[in-house]
Amino acid sequence: MAEASGRVLSAPLLSPRPVPAFDNAAVDGYAFAATSQAATGKSRLTLAEGRAAAGHPADECVAPGRAIQVLTGAVMPAGTDTVAMNEEVAVEAGSVVLARPLRPGSNRRRAGEDIAAGQSLFTAGLVLGPRQIGVAAELGLAELPVYRRLRVALLSSGDELTEPGRPLPEGGIYDANRYMLRALLRHLPVSVADLGVLGDTAAAVEPAILDAARRHDVVLTSGGASKGDEDHVVRTVERHGRLDFWQIAMKPGRPLAFGRLADAVTIGLPGNPVAAAVCFMRFARPVIARLAGAAWMEPRAFVVPAAFTLQKKPGRTELLRVRLVDARDGPEAELIRRQGSGILTSLTEADGLVEVAPETTVIRQGDPVRFLSFAELGAR
Ligand code: AMP
Ligand code: MG
Repeated sequence: MAEASGRVLSAPLLSPRPVPAFDNAAVDGYAFAATSQAATGKSRLTLAEGRAAAGHPADECVAPGRAIQVLTGAVMPAGTDTVAMNEEVAVEAGSVVLARPLRPGSNRRRAGEDIAAGQSLFTAGLVLGPRQIGVAAELGLAELPVYRRLRVALLSSGDELTEPGRPLPEGGIYDANRYMLRALLRHLPVSVADLGVLGDTAAAVEPAILDAARRHDVVLTSGGASKGDEDHVVRTVERHGRLDFWQIAMKPGRPLAFGRLADAVTIGLPGNPVAAAVCFMRFARPVIARLAGAAWMEPRAFVVPAAFTLQKKPGRTELLRVRLVDARDGPEAELIRRQGSGILTSLTEADGLVEVAPETTVIRQGDPVRFLSFAELGAR
């Protein structure tokens, strides 16, 4: 069941039993019936034989006027409803002395107080994590129903791309996107087929993309998605499938191509590494997660003051890389100075993105801005 972490629950989870399963002691001490106490002041209770410990219930019923030693997690002995902590009592010559009366039910955990039998706990579409696995184990479940992993084919596109670890030819660059995307995909319920690099000819791109689409649920590419002559990825989708949209009013981003080819969804990310990363976080990730059965993931934004000024063109969304800094009244968003869409270190210097609405044209010091942390964007 530990393997279910990171997978998507495919059916609602109802509790098969109550948790706790029985009334039990919340502390180490002495259990008794609250009605055995004096109404005010001191009470002296007779110490009963035996003891109740976790996994070892007491043998006998505790009579009125008596108290029995209990350890944390022990079933509440019959005849008792209240526990006094060791620190609250004096034990002397066969009796337990309470300085003052305890509220009935003190230091007792009730059966079902955490989870009731039949209670609905998790809905289908939840991405399971360590905390949900803990609850499922607590309920005694050994297996959980999950969706199969989505099959994602990952490709880069461009004649200039070289595999890290190899010598770099004249005019070449290393393929950063495929490695970054593979790492991003590790946080999703998918199995990734890394299909390497496509060259910049139609003869290389077309059959590779078609074949990938036939054998996977999603074909994720980067590069070759803009309107240049060498951009055959989008052209292949247009020619053999259906292109749903291509250009988006977002910076960084612009060329982002969503389409269908065979039975697969195709997602063409921009080639510029920052744009590829940001488009993945904001578009590809929630779509892939949804296709894998997860509920739609909308990252939570936190509103913080801007520690910068900025002029911006209207008509497009901008995602700014920012660092959170501690200011007098709490965190503020500081702009990473170099925002070029090829400057990948702007991402490693940042803590997240500030999303600026299309109609905004200026941000001044102290203006409230919407901060999306990399954790919320699945990119920690
Ligand atoms: P393209 O979208 O193919 O026009 O590429 C835009 C820019 O991103 C070019 O400078 C490419 O060299 C660069 N680029 C494309 N793919 C990658 C990649 N996988 N890793 C690093 N840079 C890339
Ligand atoms: Mg290219």
